[in-house]
Amino acid sequence: MSTKDYLEKDYYKVLGVPKTAAADEIKQSYRKLARKYHPDANKGDRKAEERFKEISEAYNTLSDEKKRKEYDEARSLFGGGFRVPGAGGRPGTAGTGAGGFGGFDLGDLFGGAEAGQGGLGDLLGGVFRNRGGGGTGTQARPRRGADVETETTLSFGDAVDGTTVPLHLTGDGPCPVCHGTGAKAGTVPKVCPTCEGTGQSSRNLGNFAFSEPCKTCRGRGLVVEDPCASCNGSGHATSTRTIQARIPAGVNDGQRIKLRGKGAPGERGGPAGDLYVRVHVTPHPVFGRSGGNLTVTVPVTVPEAALGSEIKVPSHRGVPVTVRIPAGTPNGRTFRVRGKGVRRSDGTYGDLLVTVEVMVPKNVGTKGRKALEDLREATAGEDPREELLQRAKET
Ligand SMILES: [Zn+2]
Ligand SMILES: [Zn+2]
Repeated sequence: MSTKDYLEKDYYKVLGVPKTAAADEIKQSYRKLARKYHPDANKGDRKAEERFKEISEAYNTLSDEKKRKEYDEARSLFGGGFRVPGAGGRPGTAGTGAGGFGGFDLGDLFGGAEAGQGGLGDLLGGVFRNRGGGGTGTQARPRRGADVETETTLSFGDAVDGTTVPLHLTGDGPCPVCHGTGAKAGTVPKVCPTCEGTGQSSRNLGNFAFSEPCKTCRGRGLVVEDPCASCNGSGHATSTRTIQARIPAGVNDGQRIKLRGKGAPGERGGPAGDLYVRVHVTPHPVFGRSGGNLTVTVPVTVPEAALGSEIKVPSHRGVPVTVRIPAGTPNGRTFRVRGKGVRRSDGTYGDLLVTVEVMVPKNVGTKGRKALEDLREATAGEDPREELLQRAKET
C-alpha cells in the first residue's frame, strides 16, 4: 500500500462506516458489501468487480490494527501539520504543489518508496486545491463552450455592403437519439453512487481539500446502466448546425470576424463559446479596395487628358458618377470622389479613388494622323527628356 493510496482513498467511506467505527462494525459492513458486490453474484459486471476490489482493499487496511493506525496518521498529518515552504507557512496558500515539499519527505515517514520519487508531487500538482479558493467542484460547475473557427467566401459587393450568410458548423453536440443523456430510450441515467452526483471525489484534509473527477462517472455525476446504442452512452454526437451569421460592411479579404456566443454550446448552463469566421473575398473585375476606399482605373483619351474633360466613372452598386479631368492631366493621376466608397461602422462612407490611364490610339485614320502631325509641329523643339538627361549627369 503506498502513501498515495492512503491519501487518495477514503477507506471509511468505501466501507460506509464512521472514522470512529469499532472493529466489529467495520467487519459487519465489509461482509454485507462483499456479499453484494462479490463477482460470483455479479457475473460480468465490471463495476461490481471494481467495487469489490475497493472494498477488499479498504478492509485489508482497516481490519489490521497496525495498518489502520498508520492510515489514520497519514491522513491526519496532512490535515494539521502541513506547511508549504515559501508561502509563509500560512495554510491555504499552496500555489503550485510541485516542488513545494522540500524537506518534507513522506517516503521517510511511511517507509514507502513511492512518495519519495515524485509521485506525491505529481499527485498534489494535479489535484491539490486550496479550499479557501473554492477549488473543489470545478467539474460540476457550468463550463463555457469552446470557441469555434470557420470560414466563408463573400462576393466583393457583399463584403463592401455587409451581408448575412448561412454557416454550416460541425461540432460535438448532444446525441439526437438519447438527447445527450447517454441512456437507452425509455431509461434515465442514475445519480452516481460514488460521488453522489457531484462528479468529484474529494477528501478534506484539515486546511486542504483534494479533489479530482469521480472515477466511477468520470466527473459527470451520473452513471448510465443501459447505454444508448447510438452514442455508446457518451451522450455526445457529431452534429451539424446552420447559423445565420451577420457579416458587417467593409470586411477585408483574410479578416477574422468574431461572433460572440455563436460557438459551441456551454455545458451545465455555461455560456456558449465564440465563433470566429475567416472571411475570403473574391476579387471584383472592376473595383478594388484600399481600406475604406474603393479604387477603379479608368481609361482616358489623349485629348481628354490634354484638353480636359468630364468623364463618366462607374460606382459600386450605383449610377455612374461624373469626374472632371482638368487640362494637362498626366497618366496615372488619381481623383477622389467623396462618399462613394465603403460604408464604415459609424455610418459614414469612404471615397472612390479614380485613377486615369491615358490610352494611346493605335489607328487614328487620315484625319487623326494629320492632327497629330500638326501637334508634333506645334510642339517642335520641346524635348521631354532634356531634364532627365541633364539630371542623369549629376553625381
Ligand atoms: Zn445517445
Ligand atoms: Zn461519480
